[in-house]
Amino acid sequence: MSRVFTFMALIWGLAGQAGPVQAQTQGFSGLARIDAAASRITDTEDGGALIAFSLSQGVPYRLFTLNDPARLVLDFQEVDWRGLTSEDLLQGEQITRAQFGTYVPGWSRMVLALAQPMAVRGAALDIDVVTARADLRLDLTPVSAEVFAAHAGAPTDPRWDLPAAEVLPPVPKRSPDAPLLVVLDPGHGGIDPGAEVMSDTGAVIEKDLILGFAIELGEVLVRSGRFQVQLTRDGDYFVSLERRIALAHRAGADLFVSLHADALSEGLAHGATVHVLSREASDVASAKLAERHDRSDLLAGVDLSDSDDRVTGVLLDLARQETQPRSDALARALVDGMANQGGPMNRRSLRSAGFSVLKAADIPSVLIEIGFLSSPRDLQNLQDPQWRAQMARGILNGLVNWREEDTALRALVRQ
Ligand SMILES: [Zn+2]
Repeated sequence: MSRVFTFMALIWGLAGQAGPVQAQTQGFSGLARIDAAASRITDTEDGGALIAFSLSQGVPYRLFTLNDPARLVLDFQEVDWRGLTSEDLLQGEQITRAQFGTYVPGWSRMVLALAQPMAVRGAALDIDVVTARADLRLDLTPVSAEVFAAHAGAPTDPRWDLPAAEVLPPVPKRSPDAPLLVVLDPGHGGIDPGAEVMSDTGAVIEKDLILGFAIELGEVLVRSGRFQVQLTRDGDYFVSLERRIALAHRAGADLFVSLHADALSEGLAHGATVHVLSREASDVASAKLAERHDRSDLLAGVDLSDSDDRVTGVLLDLARQETQPRSDALARALVDGMANQGGPMNRRSLRSAGFSVLKAADIPSVLIEIGFLSSPRDLQNLQDPQWRAQMARGILNGLVNWREEDTALRALVRQ
């Protein structure tokens, strides 16, 4: 391959000027595809790693490292990863895991788990002038934990990050009969697929299934005339747990309902389950679910270093003292609503754990596992549009009943 166009994006050397460099952006268009057969990550002789990607064309990219655990994050605008598997890609020992997919619309991300602290010694994107094919090579070399920590951190980019803190105008008071605003939160998305299982008709992926259900449920709620609906994501892209809550606040949500259909090996995981936030998990399976959701954020390359305690402190909030009973009542009403539609419900359909996505202090929040992809019976149900319509109806009924109860209770409190 003749290469006439070469540029280096030397990000930070061993001596280390911190901070990522935005790669050159002009002259690229369209969607780049990865050539899986020609893309490899191998170990180097000095104990580091060499990342070699072959792309159908050049794309702007950026990279940065994150600590706890040590990760290298590569963002591309935009790469089609089809055909690539982490098993084929990872040929060495220094990169232990690769996760890749859509991050935000228009941007793709790969997150590499590092076996030890490493810094990017060199980065080069070579583009063939005739074929337009591009070779990206990144040279990683071991560094001390201190050096790594000093340079780790996500760059600030307003296109991707949480909306900056600002004083929002108060949401105008609505009349008591106005529709409630329900924020529906389809779990996972983009680089974070959630549960994946094989069925008779092929692979079933939680992020896709649950987005479809959220849209169906949203239509049922809106058609009832009792609710307005906003989704935390309406496509296959990643939204951090933190951002899901921020979106609900920004929208002035009355209610927050996170939707999932995870796979669980622990215990008897079948049937619908409704979770609320608590400091102590009601059971081991729920604790593991909550942990796994936080871990999905880590694997997707979210920088959690600033949010050192995402749940426990919030539990003490005064606002939560009022919200928690409302969340509990909401969870009970939803369990009843779905049970009355035939469920099937889990034997312990009401559970709790430290789910980060439920931590909004002032919005009643629940997380529904409408079924478990790991259960053959649930898997069949989840793929059945008629069953999903029944569950959506059950959730609507639960919300309607909760609203009446909640309105009456709050009128009593005010007297
Ligand atoms: Zn899930």
